[in-house]
Amino acid sequence: MPKNPSYASKHPDAACIYSYSDDENAVWGELFERQITYLEGRVAPEYFEGVKKLSLTAKAVPQIRDIDAKLKKLTDAGVEGVPAIIPPSQFFDLLSQRKFPVATFLRHREDMDYIEEPDLFHEVFGHCPLLTNRPYVDFIEGFGKMAMSVPKGASWHLFRLFWFTVEFGMIRTRDGLRAYGAGIVSSPSEAAHATGGKSEMLPFDLMTVLRTPYRIDIVQPVYFVIDRFEDLAALLTQDLGKAIEKAQAIGDLPPRFDEAA
Ligand code: FE
Repeated sequence: MPKNPSYASKHPDAACIYSYSDDENAVWGELFERQITYLEGRVAPEYFEGVKKLSLTAKAVPQIRDIDAKLKKLTDAGVEGVPAIIPPSQFFDLLSQRKFPVATFLRHREDMDYIEEPDLFHEVFGHCPLLTNRPYVDFIEGFGKMAMSVPKGASWHLFRLFWFTVEFGMIRTRDGLRAYGAGIVSSPSEAAHATGGKSEMLPFDLMTVLRTPYRIDIVQPVYFVIDRFEDLAALLTQDLGKAIEKAQAIGDLPPRFDEAA
C-alpha cells in the first residue's frame, strides 16, 4: 500500500491491464506534455530515444504489460507492477533479473508538482526510457546481484550508489552536462535545479558517492557526473563489498544540508 492514505494500490485484471480513470489519464497527459517539453536540452539523448522506443505519449497512461513486452525485445529487461515501495530484498531480487519494479498508482492533480513516494509517473516516465539502454540495464542487473551478496549492514551505502546514479545521476555529453536520473527527469523542480548551471557537480567517484549522505525530500545539493553509461556497469567489476567496508571505516562526509530541517 502507498504510505499516503489518500492513495490506493492498483491491481491488474485477468489480462494484466490496470485501469485508470479519465481524470488519471488527463493527469498523466498533462504531466507528460509539460515535462517532455521542459527536458529538451536538459536530459541525455539516450533518454529521448527510450521514450520513442517505448512509444510513450501523452495520450493515456501506458500499460506495464506493453512496456514489459517492448523491453524484453530491446534489452532483455522488463518491468513488474508493484503496489508501492517494496522491501529491499524483493527490490534487489527483481533488479538482479533485469526487472524494474513499478508502483502503479498515479498522483492526484493536487500533487502534480511533487509526491514524496514514487508513483507511476516517476516510475514509467522517469525510469523506463533508460531501460532501453543495454549498458544501463547491465548496471541495474549487476547492482541487484551485488546488493543481494553484501552484508545487510551495507544497505545505506548501496542506496547511496543507486541514489546518485539511477535516481539523480548526471552524464557528460558533447553538448554539455545532461541529466539521466529518474528523480531529475520526472520532477520539474529537480530538473530546473540540476540543469540550471548553479548546482554542485562532482565527477563520479565511488568512494565519495558511498560516503555522501542524502535526503529524499529536498532538491539535491550535489550531483555526480559520469562520462558514459558503460561507466556504471564498469563499477561492478570492482569489489563493492570491500569498497563499502572502506567507506564505513572512513565515515561519512559532512552533510550538505540541514539535518534538522
Ligand atoms: Fe525511482
